Amino acid sequence: MTSPLYDALVAPLARRTTPVLFDVEGRGLSGAELHGKAMALAAALAGLGLKPGDRMAVQIDKSPRALALYLAALSAGVVFLPLNTAYTAGEVDYFVGNAEAALLVGDPSRAESLAPVAARHGARFETLDAAGEGSLTELARLAGPSFTPVARDAEDLAAILYTSGTTGRSKGAMLSQSNLLSNAEVLVQEWRFTEKDVLLHALPIFHTHGLFVAINVVLRSGGSMIFLPGFKVDQVIAALPRATSMMGVPTFYTRLLDDPRFDRDLVAHMRLFTSGSAPLLAETHVQFEERTGHRILERYGMTETNMSTSNPYDGARKPGTVGRPLPGVELKITDPVTGEDLPQGEPGMIEVRGPNVFKGYWQMPEKTREELREDGFFITGDIGVIDPNGYVSIVGRQKDLIITGGYNVYPKEIELVLDEQPGVLESAVIGVPHPDFGEAVVGVIVPRPGAEVDGAALEAAMAQSLARFKQPKHIAIVPELPRNTMGKVQKNLLRQDFASLFA
Ligand code: ATP
Ligand code: MG
Repeated sequence: MTSPLYDALVAPLARRTTPVLFDVEGRGLSGAELHGKAMALAAALAGLGLKPGDRMAVQIDKSPRALALYLAALSAGVVFLPLNTAYTAGEVDYFVGNAEAALLVGDPSRAESLAPVAARHGARFETLDAAGEGSLTELARLAGPSFTPVARDAEDLAAILYTSGTTGRSKGAMLSQSNLLSNAEVLVQEWRFTEKDVLLHALPIFHTHGLFVAINVVLRSGGSMIFLPGFKVDQVIAALPRATSMMGVPTFYTRLLDDPRFDRDLVAHMRLFTSGSAPLLAETHVQFEERTGHRILERYGMTETNMSTSNPYDGARKPGTVGRPLPGVELKITDPVTGEDLPQGEPGMIEVRGPNVFKGYWQMPEKTREELREDGFFITGDIGVIDPNGYVSIVGRQKDLIITGGYNVYPKEIELVLDEQPGVLESAVIGVPHPDFGEAVVGVIVPRPGAEVDGAALEAAMAQSLARFKQPKHIAIVPELPRNTMGKVQKNLLRQDFASLFA
C-alpha cells in the first residue's frame, strides 16, 4: 500500500484511457492524462522542497489542473489547504500564517498582492491560472510525469480544510486519509455511484461539498464528471443531457426552477440530484418533484465531519429533513447546556461520532477540546430533532438561537410561518439587541417578484400563529438575503444591518 487515498482515488486513473473529466464543450480528459498532470505537479512540489506533512495553501480558479494539484498533494503526501477564491489578500494572510504553509499557489493576476503574503510567512509563492498555466505548470513540465508516490498511513493528514466562517472566524479542520476515504466509500455505496456515472460538477472545489463529496465519490466509483468552472444556468442546462447525476446547493435548484427550459424532458434520464450545505426549503423539494418527477436527495454534513446523514436512495426522501445517519456514523441529540442525551423528539445539539469525524482544529487545542469530546463525539453547533423514523431535521445553528426576555426562540420555526404568508418568497429571522428583552426577534423577508407585501399586515398574521414572545417585533422587507458562495444565508451580516434597530 502506498497511501489509502492515493491507492483508492489516484492510482486507478493511470490505467484509464476513457475520460474522467469533460469540459463545457464536451471535450474529454482521460484518466491517464489527469494522472500524468498530477504526477508532474507532485514532482514539481517535491522539487520545491515540500516534504510529506507540509501544508500547501491554494487559492486558484477551478480547472482540470487545479484538480490535478489536489491529486498531486495526495501523491506527494502534502497536506492540501484550498481557499475560497473570494478571499482578499488580507484574509489569505490569516490562513497561510495559521497553517504555517510551506507554499502558497495563487492566480498570476494576484501575484502582486499574494507574493508578499507568502513571503511574510516564509512560504514560497507559485502561480496557476484558470487555463491551467503558471509558474507551477512550468515547473511541472520541467519535472516530467515520473514520480514515485509517497507512502502515508490512514491516520496521516490529507487536508486542512477551513470552515466557511459563517458563525465566526474560520477554523482549520484536520482531516485524515481515513476520514476522507471512509466517507467517500460510504457515499458511493449509499448513492449507488458506478463507473457509468457522469456527475454534473458546478460546485466550487475549495469547499468540502465540491471537493470531497463530489470529487472523491466520482474517483472512488470510477465515474466521470462534467467539470464546469462554476454555476451558470445556461451551461448547466446545456450539460444536463450528458449527465447522470448532479450535486448542488439549494440555490442551484431554485435558479434552475426559475428557468422554463428546466423541465421534465430535460432531466428524464437523470439518476440522482443531491442537495446540501444549506437548508433546502421543503417547498423547493416539492416544486422540483412537480416539475421534474425527481425527488432531490438532501443530506447533511460539515467541514469537520464530512457527510453525516442522508435521505435514502431507495425509500422515502422526506422534504425538510436531512435523512438518517450514514452507516458507521452515530448521531445523538443532547442538551446544549448539560450535554445529557435528550429523549427522542426533543430538539437539541446534534453530536456526531464515526470514522468521518476530523482530528481536531489545527493549532486550536482549546477549541478542539470544547467541541470534540473525549469519547469521540463532535458537538456540531447545529440544533436538530429526530422523528420517530430516525430522520433528522436541522432546526438551526445554536449561534442563531434567539434569547428574548429569557425565552429561547429557534429562528426556523418563525421562518416556516413567514414563508407561508402570501407574497413571501423567503425569510430569515434574527435576534438583535433590545434594551428590555436582551434580544428582539426580527423577521427579514424577501417578497416574491411583483408581489406587494405589507410589513404591518405580516406582523398581524404572525400574531395569529405564534406565541407572543416568538412574534417578530419588526419585519423588514429586503430585495434579497445576503448569501455566500455555498448559498448559506449570512445571518451575521443581517444582525449587523439591524443591530441598532432598538438601540
Ligand atoms: P463556520 O463553522 O466557520 O461558522 P460553516 O459551519 O458554515 O462555517 P461549513 O462546514 O461549510 O461551515 O458548513 C457546515 C454547516 O452547514 C453545518 O453545520 C450546517 O449548519 C449547514 N448545513 C450543511 N448541510 C445542511 C443541510 N442539508 N441543511 C441545513 N444546514 C446544512
Ligand atoms: Mg461550522
